[in-house]
Amino acid sequence: PDDLARAESRIALTPDFPTPGVLFRDIGPVLADAGSLATVTAALAAPFEGRYDLVAGVEARGFLLAGALAAATSTGLLPIRKAGKTPNPTASVDFALEYGVATIEAAGDLTGRRVLVVDDVLATGGTLAAAVSLVEQLGGEVAGIAVVLELTELRGRERVPQAHAVFTA
Ligand code: 5GP
Repeated sequence: PDDLARAESRIALTPDFPTPGVLFRDIGPVLADAGSLATVTAALAAPFEGRYDLVAGVEARGFLLAGALAAATSTGLLPIRKAGKTPNPTASVDFALEYGVATIEAAGDLTGRRVLVVDDVLATGGTLAAAVSLVEQLGGEVAGIAVVLELTELRGRERVPQAHAVFTA
């Protein structure tokens, strides 16, 4: 609990980034601190222990967490990328952003794989809901969804009710 509180205190708040009116939460300082990274990584994985064999992270910050988690728990790693970066994608999902649309892609066949999907922040939930659809399109089973920080006001949980958040704001 003390370790978690220390890690949480490292989340940096920047007003009006990337656009006016947005209070941006940056987990960079959490990642940069060895103890906080270990604490947060363990807290992300704990509810799903033994129930997944692949960790999927959404570009870009989700990659960092997925890498740390996969290494810490000896599982495989799946990068979920923005459109146009994956050779021979086998699944693609379009989703709405605040302004416009985005596409995520991944490659391979996840038949028989139990996948833990991770990201840094659950905001409106559009990104994680799309990542869940993508994993299912690839034939995988979503074993869990885990984020470092849930921004409760944005009600992303309505789109991904099963999400596990280490911290909430
Ligand atoms: P969504 O609205 O789809 O839940 O969030 C969109 C993406 O933007 C997610 O990948 C999430 O990590 C990122 N995001 C949204 N708000 C913030 C924020 O305040 N800080 C950070 N670091 N990422 C954010």
